Amino acid sequence: MEAVKSKTIAREIMSTFLNPKRTVAELKELRALTGDENGAQRVAFTPTWLKARAWLRERVKDLPLEIHNDAAGNTWFTLPGASDQALLIGGHMDSVPNGGWLDGCLNVLTGVEILRRIHAQYPGKPPVTVRLVDWADEEGARFGKSLFGSSACSGNLDMNEARVLQDKDGIRLPDALKEVGIDFERVKESGQELKNAAAYLELHIEQGPVLLDLDLPLGAVLGTFGVERHAITFHGQAAHSGSTPMNRRKDAFLAAAKMSSEIYRIAGRSGNGVCTIGSCTTKPGIVTSVVAECRITLDQRHLDAAKLATMLAEAKAASDKFAREGNVSVSWERLWQIAPRPFNQELISLCDEAIRDTCGKSHRLPSGPLHDAAEVAAAGIPTVMMFVQSLHGISHNKIEDTREEHLELCVTAFDKLAESAMEWIPARAK
Ligand SMILES: [Zn+2]
Repeated sequence: MEAVKSKTIAREIMSTFLNPKRTVAELKELRALTGDENGAQRVAFTPTWLKARAWLRERVKDLPLEIHNDAAGNTWFTLPGASDQALLIGGHMDSVPNGGWLDGCLNVLTGVEILRRIHAQYPGKPPVTVRLVDWADEEGARFGKSLFGSSACSGNLDMNEARVLQDKDGIRLPDALKEVGIDFERVKESGQELKNAAAYLELHIEQGPVLLDLDLPLGAVLGTFGVERHAITFHGQAAHSGSTPMNRRKDAFLAAAKMSSEIYRIAGRSGNGVCTIGSCTTKPGIVTSVVAECRITLDQRHLDAAKLATMLAEAKAASDKFAREGNVSVSWERLWQIAPRPFNQELISLCDEAIRDTCGKSHRLPSGPLHDAAEVAAAGIPTVMMFVQSLHGISHNKIEDTREEHLELCVTAFDKLAESAMEWIPARAK
């Protein structure tokens, strides 16, 4: 009973220090400073991105923070606590060109407000160290490599692949990094920042329609989807469209076309998985010939590794069956894959609780897009994300938007999650 009472009092104190309206006002200020009529223009490693980061440092100058950039260009804002064990809160100031006003910076500015609240509530000494990180180049808009700063930090960045990346003007990634004072060959030294990391929290706009369709403001994220991406080629025989009877054809397109409806059944059986055939090309590709070769691409995603493997096996079995039925052959080529990154169960529960406490009802959902949180989770740090509803279910577009009352709710709920995580960290260490 005493514990419940002291928790209630702590929550009351928290709400007097937290000012969610200030976060909304700061988001608007940032939009005015770094956006134009086409949307946000904070592309990583550009002058506008540097301007946004300088503005961010200005916002926190009254807090007793230690601030530095790590070897990969991620900025760390540290509020030292009684324990070295650190609660991390992450986001990214960079945007895609013509991006939305919330993607990435909502997370960072909410983190700033939480640092203010924690400093006010525990003057000089929060129970654990609290660190806000602004990841460098989450979007990968210029070099086509997403999660640059966080994957350098987690150790997953493929150096050989990244070393030769070029932007559309032929400028290499290592040269662009040198311009902003980053030595490409040393970026993985940023990994030492995770040394005392005990939990990682990230707030993000959903960028999809799930919460909107459920009419819920907030959701707890279960993890990021694993992905299997393949090219499937059916090999038949070109034949004259007039002289070849239907029963004599080796029609590569017929077999490929059957896959189209089959993937809906495969996804349906998998629970929450998704499957997409995103492209289809035929050879010879003329109106008077049966299709000799048909290549389709298949993208499959699931949060559960075993179910993702089943979806893939079922697609392979179906392609063999349709090839046999049509008297053609089939070959597969893997284009890309990534494992699912499930988040920490206990943190997911705390996230759920913080949401219910703030707006009555929560919902658990997986994330289709990857986020920096996926990299931190892969590095073995207990991680969770919170989503706030996106209007139109749209992002990476200037029409990206979220209701102001939902923005205020997400700051409040995310702050409660931060507080519970600060209590969870020492309890877990025991
Ligand atoms: Zn983002």
